[in-house]
Amino acid sequence: MRKLKIFALAVFLQTQFATAYVLAQTEPITRQETLRGSVTPEREWWDLLHYDLKVEFLLERRRLRGSNTITFRTLKPGSKMQIDLQPPLTITKIAHGDSQLKFEREGNVYWVMFEKEILKGVEDKIEVFYEGVPVVSKNPPWVGGITWGRDDLGDPFVNTTAQGIGASIWWPNKDHGSDEPDRGMQISVTVPDNLVAVSNGRLKKTDHDVAGKKKTFHWQVVNPINNYGVNVNIGNYVNFSEKYQGKFGVLDLEYWVLPHQKEAAIRQFKDVRRTIEAFEYWFGKYPFYEDSYKLVTVSYPGMEHQSSVTYGNWFKNGYLQRDPCACGVGFKFDFIIVHESAHEWFGNNISMKDAADMWIHEGFANYSENLFVEYHFGKKDAEDYVIGTRRSIRNDRPIIGVYGTNREGSGDMYPKGGNMLHTIRHVINDDAKWLSILRGLSADFWHQTVTTEQIESYITRKAGIDLSKVFEQYLRTTQIPLLKYRINGKTLSFNYERVVKGFAMPLRVSINGKETVISPSELQQTLEFPEEIKTFEVNRNFYVESEKVTSN
Ligand SMILES: [Zn+2]
Repeated sequence: MRKLKIFALAVFLQTQFATAYVLAQTEPITRQETLRGSVTPEREWWDLLHYDLKVEFLLERRRLRGSNTITFRTLKPGSKMQIDLQPPLTITKIAHGDSQLKFEREGNVYWVMFEKEILKGVEDKIEVFYEGVPVVSKNPPWVGGITWGRDDLGDPFVNTTAQGIGASIWWPNKDHGSDEPDRGMQISVTVPDNLVAVSNGRLKKTDHDVAGKKKTFHWQVVNPINNYGVNVNIGNYVNFSEKYQGKFGVLDLEYWVLPHQKEAAIRQFKDVRRTIEAFEYWFGKYPFYEDSYKLVTVSYPGMEHQSSVTYGNWFKNGYLQRDPCACGVGFKFDFIIVHESAHEWFGNNISMKDAADMWIHEGFANYSENLFVEYHFGKKDAEDYVIGTRRSIRNDRPIIGVYGTNREGSGDMYPKGGNMLHTIRHVINDDAKWLSILRGLSADFWHQTVTTEQIESYITRKAGIDLSKVFEQYLRTTQIPLLKYRINGKTLSFNYERVVKGFAMPLRVSINGKETVISPSELQQTLEFPEEIKTFEVNRNFYVESEKVTSN
């Protein structure tokens, strides 16, 4: 999510913040944005292998205190390293073996100086100690930070969220999407001993400091994980679990909920099984069997935290009791379970290198909702759903954001991204091939970070159709192709307007109730039919607009 920034609520929020948003896009790019959003020389020379985050949540004082041991391998020689941590949190010490490293701060970035240059191909590690009062989230999950809340019964209920703003809002790391720790991450969370801390991966052990009245929960993730996918949730949690016979083995499904939510959760979380079933059909193996699948209740709507999807959708179908397509189909499933779980394939398995390419997460997750519907309810409902979500498309800005700056593109990345993929499926017009492309994406980019260009060229190559102009049109412009057509007895004339140069996407149309394919371009074409043309209709699955020209 952010990215739950969707539909009705999304539109509301975006309207509210529209001015600030547009301003943010046109304002000059700051040095802090470049440091955050690009692969700087101080990031480029080393590759993440592992994070070992130890953090204590001091609830009374709303403080954090901890350390992150960063293990890396050098890709080239280097002596200056960029580590990100946002104020008001501060790094207090950086240990390298027996020595301490010098460092200086520049806003959200720390420049860490090694004693001497480290050679290429060396594995090494540093331990970064930090503490302070972290930023409080003003609107989770859309604005990240810590939520120091209380649950319905008055017990502490604390959540972290970091999408967009970055994981360095609460822990020190290499805060860029292009690099993930290849060997995963250890997350050890210390909290008052009457509470439970839930994080990503599997709970390996719990230490109880009886005298200090504290517990430390040690969570382990063995797969690569993207930074914003890391989260901690603290509350009076209880858990229940089940074994799911997946297509590729037994998958542990674990549910962490508050005690008074348990009954509702047992009922509503049945959607997890049918979600995994549908997505293993469409995309192949759930990407994190080793780390299990978890659903964890939180105080905000939800987020795709890797192997610990967070949930706050009131145990009801739809999205916060709304129907994203306004067609009824949205109430047939729990939006948060389906949408956020889809991110395990698109977002967590395949992750964007640059935040400008966030549509790879959100466009595919939006599209996945309709695949879930197709798997369980059939094509008609699925088409109604994905086409229905077009009502939220604003065409305000391109879907692709500004590279190297951590500036995302338009919120259209959800419904327009989904409808672009749906359109492409219908251009290919071969369900078996489309299924193999979806499964192929997941398998061939398994646990990788990718760019839009990689996704584009992959789909084009596998489809055997040059789709470059289609991607160009929908991802990089705000124009929706317009088919202009004219009917004169037995002849049909047509051409595209509002398209990028060379755009020639074929369309399925129905003429006198009979389906045929036309291949419009910017140049006007005329076709002659054996009988008079009485009705003409563009197949609704193609996201284009059409206009009949009546005058000469
Ligand atoms: Zn999402």
